[in-house]
Amino acid sequence: MQKRDIKSMTLSELEQELAAAGEPRFRAKQIYEWMHGKQAESFSEMTNLPKALRECLSEQYEYTKVTVVEELTSAMDGTKKFLFGLSDGNVVESVWMRYQHGCSVCISSQVGCRMGCMFCASTLGGLVRNLTASEMLEQVYQIGRMTGERVSHVVVMGTGEPLDNYDALLRFLAIISDENGLNISQRNITVSTCGLVEQIRRLAGEKLQITLALSLHAPDQEKRERLMPVAGRYDIRDVVKACGDYFACTGRRITFEYALIGGVNDTPKDAQALAALVGGMNCHVNLIPVNPVKERSWVRSKPEVIAAFKNSLEKSGIPVTLRREMGKDINGACGQLRRSRMENSRHIPTVSAAGES
Ligand code: SAH
Repeated sequence: MQKRDIKSMTLSELEQELAAAGEPRFRAKQIYEWMHGKQAESFSEMTNLPKALRECLSEQYEYTKVTVVEELTSAMDGTKKFLFGLSDGNVVESVWMRYQHGCSVCISSQVGCRMGCMFCASTLGGLVRNLTASEMLEQVYQIGRMTGERVSHVVVMGTGEPLDNYDALLRFLAIISDENGLNISQRNITVSTCGLVEQIRRLAGEKLQITLALSLHAPDQEKRERLMPVAGRYDIRDVVKACGDYFACTGRRITFEYALIGGVNDTPKDAQALAALVGGMNCHVNLIPVNPVKERSWVRSKPEVIAAFKNSLEKSGIPVTLRREMGKDINGACGQLRRSRMENSRHIPTVSAAGES
């Protein structure tokens, strides 16, 4: 029988599990606190549980862990990039950044991605699989352990489309913000999406206090479709409307992400069209000079073009920030660390060897 993933269970699910096993009510909370509050490395560390119960738990449940495969530290600002190994041999990357207001972790939500954005390295090999909630949590827990610092902010902006892994994402959000766990304020959590309209609406209905970041990257339908195949599924105005409705439901201001790509989406006309598209909304625009990906030919916009674009939005009354570049020396684009690892370790069996009987 396959062991079940205990670290992905919410507290109420765990309570039901333990009640069904005839355990006293307080046990579930004890175990939950060990897993998510103290981040115990194994059941055997849970010293206030009877030994028989600990043994029973390890027979029945999987205790998810990720292991550090590679750690890179920026000599410029201390930003760290981690490559984590999963139990099935896959790897995912996460980033740790220190800001004035605390420490932030950027996690992956899938191994690979199937959204196909033309400028993104994470999607080049397609989707391998969804991450479980426990694998998402473990990225944060291990980074907290390795840096020895409290994680105050989480952004779900690494590899993967979080709204394409909706159930695990919601579990992750519930557990990471639970007062018996790391207790990270939902206001300090950002989920970034390429714009899956049905799921944005569903998320709005969950009445969470997280920030939604929408990867817009173009001011009109045609340009957006050129950059993001997923854009072909929706009218850009419906995507923006869903974001407006998210604000109406949650009171949380939307972040529109806009990667500036030289000669593609950075003209004065683009800036005006963008201002017309999002003007009047409770939002802010985050401009990201695109990170070149070696498999693609996109280049970043020139500094003076970026400044003019920003200026134009400001003049139209749109709150706008330019993403501060952290860990420039170790960064590369999203998903590139994992890709370089895959390229180094790839071994392609020869046809004759594979075909011999
Ligand atoms: N799938 C989600 C979250 C992961 S990507 C999403 O699409 O939002 C996180 C952000 O990085 C997105 O805004 C994405 O478009 C952006 N991004 C991906 N590759 C990039 C690159 N090479 N340069 C700049 N931004 C990039």
